[in-house]
Amino acid sequence: MTPSDVRIDLHTHSSASDGTGTPSQVVRDARAAGLDVVALTDHDTTSGWAEAAHEAQRAGVALVRGTEVSALAGGVSVHLLSYLQDPASSVLADVLARTRDSREHRAERMVDRLAAGGVPITWADVLLQAKDAVAVGRPHIADALVELGVVPDRSAAFVDLLSARGPYYVGYAAPTAVDAVRAVVAAGGVPVFAHPGADGRGRVVADDVIEELADAGLAALEVDHRDHSPAQRDRLRALADGLGLLVTGSSDYHGAGKPNVLGENLTDPVVLAAIEERGSMPVVRP
Ligand code: AMP
Ligand code: ZN
Ligand code: FE
Ligand code: FE
Repeated sequence: MTPSDVRIDLHTHSSASDGTGTPSQVVRDARAAGLDVVALTDHDTTSGWAEAAHEAQRAGVALVRGTEVSALAGGVSVHLLSYLQDPASSVLADVLARTRDSREHRAERMVDRLAAGGVPITWADVLLQAKDAVAVGRPHIADALVELGVVPDRSAAFVDLLSARGPYYVGYAAPTAVDAVRAVVAAGGVPVFAHPGADGRGRVVADDVIEELADAGLAALEVDHRDHSPAQRDRLRALADGLGLLVTGSSDYHGAGKPNVLGENLTDPVVLAAIEERGSMPVVRP
């Protein structure tokens, strides 16, 4: 928590990617959670922006339009938050379109592997769960497994069946992290490294990679995130300080799909002001 009266949560997901609520629902949830500012950051898409912006003005919450950009750094999957980029800029939009395409093929291949391994799941089961999502992810496969009674909930599906370390995992094509930072900057966005120390999900990058990203234009590290221990937060805060990077905090809310609670980590208003200063789109204010 930041010692401030303004409550800012800069990382959430809607049904445009793998959250369970529609973009309007996420905004209403943010309002109900007492947030003043919320960022919608669906994986590899901006398709939820218009609906969220409309609802934000109605509900009285400020909205930061963003995207969680998938990237790869030496084989390690990394997530980069892009804030306030121009969605019409083709540099980043083309990168995201390629990733979405690869995500869909990859999810289908994971289903093939699961089926070959004796898990009774079909691609149609996943499509039923993905609904209006334009970025298909493992959480949609998890939802299909829950629906089929194979596992009790999303988290259980990730323990073995969908684990990045498991036998059914398939990766997807994504830009290198440096290229992703450059594409975000070229689109007038502000790039922030999401959960850089989340080693519970898979491998994480070494500090020299973060240094390289800082040189390419990275603005901040998402230090306050539930996947970071207190010790990791201290370490990342010191790293950010040494590299002249800002620090953000957020919930990574996925609706009913994950235990993450809106507002469980917050971002300092001074940091948001610096992000808005650097971005090419305004924060949508009611
Ligand atoms: P993907 O991008 O398709 O590889 O899926 C990764 C997404 O799955 C993450 O962004 C999270 O939203 C979700 N996820 C990762 N680990 C877990 C977990 N243990 N339980 C629930 N959801 C998870
Ligand atoms: Zn997600
Ligand atoms: Fe992420
Ligand atoms: Fe996320």
